[in-house]
Amino acid sequence: MNWENNVRKVIPYTPGEQPKEKVIKLNTNENPYPPSPAVQKILDGFDISRMRLYPAPDAEVLVNAIAEKYSIKPEQVFVGVGSDDVISMAFMTFFNSDKPILFPDITYSFYDVWADVYRIPYETKPLNSDFTINPDDYKTQNGGIIFPNPNAPTGVLESVDMIEDIVKANPDSVVMIDEAYIDFGGESCIPLTEKYENLLVIQTFSKSRSMAGMRIGFAIGNQKLIKYMNDVKFSINSYTMNTVTQLCGAEAVKDDEYFKETVNKIIATRENAKKKLKELGFSLTDSKSNFIFAKPEKKSAEYVFSELKKRKIFVRYWNKPVIKDYLRITVGTDMEMESLFTALEEILNG
Ligand code: PMP
Repeated sequence: MNWENNVRKVIPYTPGEQPKEKVIKLNTNENPYPPSPAVQKILDGFDISRMRLYPAPDAEVLVNAIAEKYSIKPEQVFVGVGSDDVISMAFMTFFNSDKPILFPDITYSFYDVWADVYRIPYETKPLNSDFTINPDDYKTQNGGIIFPNPNAPTGVLESVDMIEDIVKANPDSVVMIDEAYIDFGGESCIPLTEKYENLLVIQTFSKSRSMAGMRIGFAIGNQKLIKYMNDVKFSINSYTMNTVTQLCGAEAVKDDEYFKETVNKIIATRENAKKKLKELGFSLTDSKSNFIFAKPEKKSAEYVFSELKKRKIFVRYWNKPVIKDYLRITVGTDMEMESLFTALEEILNG
């Protein structure tokens, strides 16, 4: 009975909790506002007889809408079932060298999981003490590079110039910038994809477009990169994204006014929350995302996390080196944040 010797054994990624009961949910960086009303219209008018048919394998309506939004050609867009799917496909397609891929030691905790499952060697690079990236760390021999901008879970934003410096220094590997949170105050590297063949920028509809449950992510790069990704995708599963999702995604991306309105609300709530948390004695990074990375100074982060949970307020905590002193708090509505401040006041000063 040795079949288990041949199993592809992996330690899976642990997603944030999705509690069944009603809680104030500030633990998985979801958007507290619903998607564009244009999405509701598509759902209301959808004729279920269309479900008989396979979806468009190239997700044309969605790809075209994204291409139009970013003033690029459809051939420069790859879509997938959430950016997790897109990044996973990109790992499989581009990280195919014996040299290690590089990413920060503190970053999205899915990267090492994908590297393990695809047997990609990797090396992590320590962040500076202020959680910024040292670009020189990414100028050594490597099989590829990935990091989020802003980084997760720190929320720290790097400049486009610094990223260009890294992309320029690595003509022999693909550099992936995971822009899951870029819409909350950062400058995107998408324009750089016109200049550099080896740059792939990945974004998601899960955060700034309030559609985490729909599962839409996309990558933008030059036509050659996108063609290589599609070749791998069509070698695994042609019909990854269903018809309803394609239509809803296209409508969401067209509604720029609603997008700006909700993103601006979240930014305003975040900036107010930063002030409040500082008053409560937290030290924090200057997050440019839809979450705040905050260290309570009076009590341990683990204690505050569990006390908040008792009060049905869920935030994210990792018992890992360095970040074990921090909480990652998703920016919710103003009302949700007020409940959080009241609870923290009680936990820290009560
Ligand atoms: N990248 C980063 C940095 C993230 O935090 C997340 C959200 N967990 C993702 C990618 C994946 O998001 P999604 O699959 O919902 O697009």
